[in-house]
Amino acid sequence: MCPVSIEQRFAPQLTQRRAQHLYRQRPLAFTPQQPLMNLNGVACLNFCSNDYLGLANHPQIKQRLIEALQTEAISYGAGAAHLVTGHHLQHHLLEDELADWLGVERVLLFSTGFMANLAVLQTLAQKGDVILGDKLNHASLVDGARHSSAEFKRYPHLAMPALEKRLQQAQALQQQALVVTDGVFSMDGDLAPLTEIQALTQRYQAWLIVDDAHGFGVLGAQGRGSLSHFGLNADANTVQIGTLGKAFGCSGAFVAGSNTLIETLIQFARPYIYTTASSHLNAVAVRQALHLLQQAEAPRAHLRALILQFRQGANDIGLQLLDSLSPIQPVMLGGPERALAWSERLQQLGFWVAAIRPPTVAQGQARLRITLSAAHQPQQVAQLLSALADCQATLG
Ligand SMILES: *Cc1c(COP(=O)(O)O)cnc(C)c1O
Repeated sequence: MCPVSIEQRFAPQLTQRRAQHLYRQRPLAFTPQQPLMNLNGVACLNFCSNDYLGLANHPQIKQRLIEALQTEAISYGAGAAHLVTGHHLQHHLLEDELADWLGVERVLLFSTGFMANLAVLQTLAQKGDVILGDKLNHASLVDGARHSSAEFKRYPHLAMPALEKRLQQAQALQQQALVVTDGVFSMDGDLAPLTEIQALTQRYQAWLIVDDAHGFGVLGAQGRGSLSHFGLNADANTVQIGTLGKAFGCSGAFVAGSNTLIETLIQFARPYIYTTASSHLNAVAVRQALHLLQQAEAPRAHLRALILQFRQGANDIGLQLLDSLSPIQPVMLGGPERALAWSERLQQLGFWVAAIRPPTVAQGQARLRITLSAAHQPQQVAQLLSALADCQATLG
């Protein structure tokens, strides 16, 4: 292939993406993250962020940040990687508090969930191993698996017989298997059948890696996530990954598991070692968020009621939902054009719901990914349902 300019290579790809109704744009926010937002200069009711407990703009966390800046021995910037001078007392205390909350030996902080997933898969999965991932796993788990030295196989979404077959194959080949799954699937909102998956991993001595980005804070006692939701405990071969940018309302991520797991990541995980620690302020904010999240039984009950209200109402107007009891409630619309039309109509009516299109989801599976938050009011969910009924009537 002859050398070309960046313009020559990519301008046609951008044109094509536009023609396919797959072009992405970043709405510009002029307000804090909350239900009532101003996006692109327009006031709207936001139904597509992952701030499930309304902690992203919580007054107690903001107050704690102001106070911490004045009274704690912290800076804004961490200045260096954790292994250099970046590991502050606030990070350390947060790791301990997260470990206590989950009842695990150790927790390790990361700057983003994407990096935590790269780190876990690249470090744990070695040559000769096989990673078995659900077909609908998050992109960062797919990339982590692809960039590891292990073989990577996917099983159909939630298909336990298929998973067992691959585990039998791995056993026959004397391969170490790592079973990797979202706890709550980010685009569908359904739950991995962790009771069955854990039984399988234990039977075949596989390791279980659960990315619970959308489970922590929302599911389980004290918001302890998907394993807790199913009444399961993490064994010594279980790795849990959580993000701090969703229900925690902050940013960053953590890996939870055994002492050996965490020491291994500290020694060998390149996405941990070669990156600057997140801001001290973020650690302060997450500690306050954890405190609120553990006690958020009333917001969680409120959120569950909103989910039921939405599903009931959506059923009544004949929308196609998925089998989701989580705050992620996709409305399935088929082609990307239709999803965009609904999203634009909702915008005209004062609601912000992003249209999710391929390649984020499979062809023919474009959707509105509606997410509910404990910060929403039942009245707002009722208004959204009326607007969806309007879309149904005017756009079909
Ligand atoms: C959002 C998300 C991530 C990435 O986390 P960030 O902290 O946003 O990088 C990883 N896994 C799942 C399932 C997610 O939904």
